[in-house]
Amino acid sequence: MFQKILIANRGEIALRVIRACREMGIRSVAVHSTADADSMHVRMADESVCIGPAPASESYLSVPGIISACEITGAEAIHPGYGFLSENANFVQIVEDHGIVFIGPRAEHIRLMGDKITAKETMRSLGVPCVPGSAGGVPDLPAARRIAAEIGYPVIVKATAGGGGRGMKLARTAEELDTAFRTARTEAKGAFGNDEVYLEKYLGRPRHIEVQVFGDGRGRAVHLGERDCSLQRRHQKILEEAPSPVITPAMREAIGRTCAEAVAKIGYAGAGTIEFLFEDGNFYFIEMNTRLQVEHPVTEAVYGVDLVREQIRVAAGLPMEFEQAELVPRGHSIEVRINAERLPQFSPSPGRITQYHAPGGLGVRMDSPIYDGYRIPPYYDSLIGKLIVHGRDRPEALARLRRALGEIIVDGIDTTIPLFRQLLEEPDIQSGDYTIHWLEKWLADAFA
Ligand code: ADP
Repeated sequence: MFQKILIANRGEIALRVIRACREMGIRSVAVHSTADADSMHVRMADESVCIGPAPASESYLSVPGIISACEITGAEAIHPGYGFLSENANFVQIVEDHGIVFIGPRAEHIRLMGDKITAKETMRSLGVPCVPGSAGGVPDLPAARRIAAEIGYPVIVKATAGGGGRGMKLARTAEELDTAFRTARTEAKGAFGNDEVYLEKYLGRPRHIEVQVFGDGRGRAVHLGERDCSLQRRHQKILEEAPSPVITPAMREAIGRTCAEAVAKIGYAGAGTIEFLFEDGNFYFIEMNTRLQVEHPVTEAVYGVDLVREQIRVAAGLPMEFEQAELVPRGHSIEVRINAERLPQFSPSPGRITQYHAPGGLGVRMDSPIYDGYRIPPYYDSLIGKLIVHGRDRPEALARLRRALGEIIVDGIDTTIPLFRQLLEEPDIQSGDYTIHWLEKWLADAFA
């Protein structure tokens, strides 16, 4: 096992990894920017190294900075968290060239899933159901028109190199396709330096359901059920739950097995998430994330596992600690993302936290790096905490979440906490009856 791990991240996910290291008797190294000198991950790690100034491009994304920090401290492995360099295949290559272990999948698998067309082709060939659409990139408008007529309107034009919902355009009719095709290309070129686009059938009222998989890198893999992340704003998840209110044990078993078999076949190592849109009982693959997800704690709660510990073990060459047959979901878990944001625009609300009180009690987990007097820097993501609850069933989890949201105090800045208090009063949220468009519509009505 490793003696020392460096965490190439900040915020709650850096704390999450430090905690796993401490329980495993592994020393942790935090890296930080000058703006994060007072942050909790620096305080909690065994050692810390300042790797650059505030902008992430000069610190958390600085490959030379991170590699030097490993060399100075003697860290043998790097955990990338999520975001930043976690899905950068070139970074993985450089880490390995320096004799350091990357805690995550191999560079080739990150590359394979980073390109949406190859990801989709690979998944289709592995028997994973995909959204009907073009087989690969669409070269020009006449080809787009022909393919759209075949799959039927509405269609969505998507960038091959896409991410974060950019380079995506809806076309309801053949007339709309001309503009959609052109603007998607222009946006993709601007955002990703690659103007290749492809076509997919547009699903009108899907849910976002994702399957957690875990591979040992040697051809064995398991699934840990699904998470429902349908509550989204501008393609950003804000509340996640496991299990999904609409997935039956038989459906879970079938899609879970398909996903586990697919990643086993490619020899995938570590944690991964296969994302689907789900409509009328059918799953449609959209993308695979080759890293730990923000919302992984809801899976940990219902399956009683520590996914970060498992990631570290597999990276160290040890076998997985769980077998498929032992992985039985228990109860229900919900996570809400507490962002430093001001509604209705969800504009960033950095600043000093004058008072913080964390919720507690049975079935409550609070993953957050904030403390009394902490100043949230304006340079990074607005996620300042995740509140996760677990109950014996969905009604109990909802009651517990309502209770915990009543206890939490975060003063001095605006947060999404009041939004969640309101959402929990909604009959559709209480019954679990919502699609990926529900929140946008609710927000439009609430702030009309
Ligand atoms: P990105 O990588 O840019 O986030 P995804 O392919 O993961 O793009 O899609 C992001 C979101 O866009 C999905 O969660 C869903 O809300 C919407 N979306 C993507 N593809 C489709 C589709 N074929 N039909 C309807 N909505 C879609």
